Amino acid sequence: MSRRSGQRIGLGFDVHRLEPGRPCILGGVELPHATGPAGHSDGDAVLHAVIDALTGAAGLDDVGTLFPDTDPTWEGADSARLLGSVLERVHGAGYRVVNVDVVIATEGPRIAPHRAAMRARMAELLAVEVDAVNVKGKSLEGLGALAGGAGVAVEAICLLASGD
Ligand SMILES: [Zn+2]
Repeated sequence: MSRRSGQRIGLGFDVHRLEPGRPCILGGVELPHATGPAGHSDGDAVLHAVIDALTGAAGLDDVGTLFPDTDPTWEGADSARLLGSVLERVHGAGYRVVNVDVVIATEGPRIAPHRAAMRARMAELLAVEVDAVNVKGKSLEGLGALAGGAGVAVEAICLLASGD
């Protein structure tokens, strides 16, 4: 199908508040931190942004439409499961993941010590090599509503290529 040929790029963004007593799961990895992302699912803003980048590139519905927060099926859901479901749809649409790049902006948990684990975990979830997934942490320089560790904002970009 000619519509499926070539490469497609997708951009994703997500933001979650960080709240005490929540596990701090980002990029499919649990970070040791006193606060974690609030949300209907496990709140993994990194995987949510990656999901939106994938759906954007593949021309699928966005994450809120695919997994509505009014649907109890997804209450407390492991975002890795959501990503797996989206990846199946991406493959079903005739695409494979070329690479994914992620920026995590937060003054909550430190990202640098966990970059390697996040890359490995996301590569596993996306069925690609580790060097096809990158992650960078950014400080917010004490600016804005997310300063002081109040939240986490994530941008993700991905490239898809047609199946073979
Ligand atoms: Zn989210």
